[in-house]
Amino acid sequence: MNKEEFIKETKKLGINLTNPMLEKLEIYANFLLEYNEHTNLTAIKTKEDVYLKHFYDSLTLVKIASLETGKILDVGTGAGFPGLVLAIVFPNLEVDLLDSNNKKITFLQQCIERLKIKNVHLIYSRAEDYTKIHREEYDYVTSRAVAELRILLELNIPCLKVKGQFLVMKGNIKEEIAEAKTTLEILSSKIIKVEIVTLPKENSTRTLLNIEKEAKTDPKYPRTYDKIKKRMLKK
Ligand code: SAM
Repeated sequence: MNKEEFIKETKKLGINLTNPMLEKLEIYANFLLEYNEHTNLTAIKTKEDVYLKHFYDSLTLVKIASLETGKILDVGTGAGFPGLVLAIVFPNLEVDLLDSNNKKITFLQQCIERLKIKNVHLIYSRAEDYTKIHREEYDYVTSRAVAELRILLELNIPCLKVKGQFLVMKGNIKEEIAEAKTTLEILSSKIIKVEIVTLPKENSTRTLLNIEKEAKTDPKYPRTYDKIKKRMLKK
């Protein structure tokens, strides 16, 4: 996807990118590809793919949530997807990017300095350690391609405010949705929107889920990662 196609397709999502936003995205794409030559951050190697599979894909979140303002945590952000793209395009959104991989956080630190943006904060931590302490704090939490849905729910729901929304980005997760029924109930959360997104040009599909939290989370969640993986939540 070249820049003109990117602008056209994001317009269809209802996003009007300003020149300063486009300049920042270009700095981000160039720095990501340059850094990726010596430190493995992403399998994507061309600028056209960065615009399609990282930038455009991150922005499809607007199909399931209004992201103009509020506080969002991107858990397992990697090289900043979707969180850093959202921070550039929605300057009134307060964005926290969390990852347990120091290599990714170091890249993000340098990237943010180059972008000169102020609405981003980096967190070097395991998700389960962070959300054990930061309870009911965020309007939104998001995760793209991080773990199975039941694991993500236990990691991420605790730090959402009541009525906050967990925005999940994954491949095909029909089965995972069915398996997550009990976990959703225990964590007082419900799926309020499912959107299947087809990427322009290559026609691959992704699933976006909007999961709303309906009541405060029991302080015993999240459990340790080993426990979460070994024994999924049961009533
Ligand atoms: N979200 C990014 C994207 O879509 O390009 C990165 C996806 S990458 C496949 C998964 C990321 O999640 C990795 O950077 C990994 O370090 C991070 N991660 C996995 N489990 C985590 C946990 N429990 N706490 C914090 N980060 C985690």
